[in-house]
Amino acid sequence: MTLTLSLPSSKPILFSPPYAASPTLQTHYGFRFKPPRAAVQISPTFPQFQSPSQRNTGVIVIGAGLAGLAAAIRLNSENVPFLLLEASDAVGGRVRTDVVDGFLLDRGFQIFITGYPEAQKLLDYQSLNLQKFYSGARVYCDGEFHTVADPLRHFFDSLTTLINPVGTLADKLLIGLTRIRVLSRTDEEILSANEVSTIDLLKKIGFSDSIIGRFFRPFFGGIFFDKELETTSRLFDFIFKCLALGDNALPAKGIAAIPEQLAAKLPSDSILLNSKVASIDFDQSDGSNLPTVRLQNGDVLRSELGVVVAVEEPEADKLLGKPVERKRPARSTVCLYFSADENQIPVRDPVLFLNGSGKGMVNNMFFATNVAPSYGPPGKTLVSVSLIGLFEGVSDGDLTTEVVRELSGWFGDTMVGSWRHLRTYRIGFAQPNQCPPTDLMKNPRFGSGVYVCGDHQTSATFDGALVSGRKAVEALLRDSALVNV
Ligand SMILES: Cc1cc2nc3c(=O)[nH]c(=O)nc-3n(C[C@H](O)[C@H](O)[C@H](O)COP(=O)(O)OP(=O)(O)OC[C@H]3O[C@@H](n4cnc5c(N)ncnc54)[C@H](O)[C@@H]3O)c2cc1C
Repeated sequence: MTLTLSLPSSKPILFSPPYAASPTLQTHYGFRFKPPRAAVQISPTFPQFQSPSQRNTGVIVIGAGLAGLAAAIRLNSENVPFLLLEASDAVGGRVRTDVVDGFLLDRGFQIFITGYPEAQKLLDYQSLNLQKFYSGARVYCDGEFHTVADPLRHFFDSLTTLINPVGTLADKLLIGLTRIRVLSRTDEEILSANEVSTIDLLKKIGFSDSIIGRFFRPFFGGIFFDKELETTSRLFDFIFKCLALGDNALPAKGIAAIPEQLAAKLPSDSILLNSKVASIDFDQSDGSNLPTVRLQNGDVLRSELGVVVAVEEPEADKLLGKPVERKRPARSTVCLYFSADENQIPVRDPVLFLNGSGKGMVNNMFFATNVAPSYGPPGKTLVSVSLIGLFEGVSDGDLTTEVVRELSGWFGDTMVGSWRHLRTYRIGFAQPNQCPPTDLMKNPRFGSGVYVCGDHQTSATFDGALVSGRKAVEALLRDSALVNV
């Protein structure tokens, strides 16, 4: 059984990892491959790579976001040959960074939590050169700012937190008890626990309306892109636990450094960019029981071991022929970036500002260069402002005007009026909807040699995507009896 593929017309390009240690990376087909012990038949020899059109592969992974990269890393660790197909011009999926006028603009505000358990296994934190946020936040309400600090990391700041109007003393004790509750459970227990919405959980725990409206709504609403906090309590508990165990951080080279570091672990000829999959064909006229993958340019690839679908949920539904009308609306966000002179900002702290006023369109904002100076050119500050929702009816220009007007109320018009708008990102599909009922530990087996991963299979987080990629491959390896996993 050998793969046949005509020459691609849309010029797929091979990924060149920015962090590749040397150009003499081990070649993909130089790997020792464990022969299958079961019914699966593999081509006895893999031809030396000449061009993408002649590539032969064991597993086809579709999508080079965090899930697809984690899947590829797991395959690579077992010396199973694979080809990673990515529709866009780079790896990372939703985790990308653009360079504009010397600024690093993440495609939407993203925070890396160092406590993510799967990320700890896969990433080299030291080379990411992680730059930490202040552990807490500054909440804008009633025309003033109030600091909410983590007592375990900023003890003295937290003493003032005890008496500020964001929450009551009882609220602060309940935060401590919530921390103990989540830390006493395993991730599996948390992700499969009885669930309610986050807002119902917070009320059940006994938090006051004040801390819910002023802190939890903007903070977790900003993480879930869900102001109403209807997202499952499982996700709240998981994130709360990770926050308790780690820091909020940004890689010095931008959030895209995370997928780029993962991609650099893979053989450089195993990733094909600009290679959009148009369909997965399950109808095998040649009697094989594995599907074929058709690229948008018309080329057809056959995998010898299976297909891992690692694309975002709406695209996965399309490729797998699932009905889409049942879907609840996805989570969306808008992120606006501004450039400011370094003397035109109110603070130097690496702190996240939250809108706890219950009014306006801004949910949260921060001065990115205060966290990671490398996010801007010398002497300049990068301002990042996030909104929840897509604001489809409002033009980019009107959105910018409104955000400037609103933040002028926070920091004064002279300061905010001097900021220069850099770019606006509107992200329609930021995260899948994860309101109850959820299944955050979905079976990756779709059938017919197809396995599914992505944040819609687990928790809609970096970590969930990474876990899902590994699990999909482990299911494939188990089913193919390739290795004992
Ligand atoms: C603005 C924003 C902020 C976020 N903030 C955080 C945060 O702070 N912390 C956190 O943990 N998580 C955050 N997330 C969520 C996190 O980024 C995602 O959960 C995670 O990156 C999803 O990874 P994935 O691999 O499942 O999907 P994706 O990243 O969507 O990857 C799917 C890949 O498949 C490719 N693809 C799609 N269709 C095809 C096709 N037909 N053929 C070939 N390739 C295809 C896409 O181009 C893409 O590269 C945020 C997300 C966004 C958008």
